[in-house]
Amino acid sequence: MNVEKCVIIGSGPAGLTAAIYAARAALDPLCIEGYNAGGLIPGGQLMFTTDVENYPGFPHGIMGPEMMKAFRDQAERFGTRFIRDDVSEVDFRRRPFTVKTPDQAVQAHAVIVATGARANWLGLENEQRLAKSGGGVSACAVCDGALPMFRNQEVAVVGGGDSAVEEASYLTKFASKVHLIHRRDQLRASKAMQERAFKLEREGKLALVWDSQVIDVLGDKTITGLKLKNTKTGQVREMPIKGLFLGIGHTPNTDLFNGQLELEESGYLKVRPGSSYTSVPGIFAAGDVADHVYRQAVTAAGTGCMAAIDCERWLAEQGIE
Ligand code: NAP
Repeated sequence: MNVEKCVIIGSGPAGLTAAIYAARAALDPLCIEGYNAGGLIPGGQLMFTTDVENYPGFPHGIMGPEMMKAFRDQAERFGTRFIRDDVSEVDFRRRPFTVKTPDQAVQAHAVIVATGARANWLGLENEQRLAKSGGGVSACAVCDGALPMFRNQEVAVVGGGDSAVEEASYLTKFASKVHLIHRRDQLRASKAMQERAFKLEREGKLALVWDSQVIDVLGDKTITGLKLKNTKTGQVREMPIKGLFLGIGHTPNTDLFNGQLELEESGYLKVRPGSSYTSVPGIFAAGDVADHVYRQAVTAAGTGCMAAIDCERWLAEQGIE
């Protein structure tokens, strides 16, 4: 069986940047770009984003899907080959490694894992409808919070952890008021982040809404409000707002690697600090699957580049040219 030098799993900014670098380093990479695993599609989370306004080099912004097409075109131009399918199984216990899709098995000397993470959603029908149509519901305040539709409007963030407080704090720069809705009466966020929230509340920029669960999202084409249920009294009320941001955590797409690669306690892939090396020599990780802190397209692309360079050097050390 033909053994690939470098197989890349995933086609978000991390996977495709790894592909560009690996192709230019003559590793002849094969990218298994996914189909619909984890609710994602080829191109990853950016395929669900409208304007990307913080990626350097695009002073006027760019649409997420357009950006990912450009990444893919660039990877293809240097010779990356693609398989549009989901990986169903891997065997990283013996070399060469095996990566299987429902239709085929591929063998590889090295693998770059860039399967990403998915934002957690409440799972409400109207939440999903308005998120997909750009109707003011988002799981990324840093990506979407500065859009004109949210400026000088009241918006809400759901969650009580560091992400939610960070998103809420970021949004206070643009919104007239941010409501931070938490299902309990105590934040999960770190002490420092809690202090930040309380300070913003004292300044009148943030309102903490305790013991509340969002049970419906209101609005036809764009969001107009929320239906909230008090988790202690059961009382239901409506809150008018013009934007909803989810800050209830992310889930890394690591199911395939359970028992084969070491994971952090948080479920993210463990990498040697400052590198893309996983616990198995020859398997590298890039992007959100190994990053619960930054989670930006530009950091994913950066670690994709690192993974391709680490992979190239490792293959050379093994005498695989
Ligand atoms: P997290 O710590 O798991 O917090 C998730 C929050 O969402 C919790 O408050 C949880 O409520 C709430 N939640 C979960 N499911 C919910 C649901 N269905 N409905 C309503 N609320 C729900 O996640 P995170 O904030 O994304 O943080 C993840 C990790 O990244 C943490 O280790 C964090 O410290 C780190 N992080 C650090 C920074 C920073 O240092 N600047 C920034 C972001 C993230 P309960 O509290 O009731 O469980």
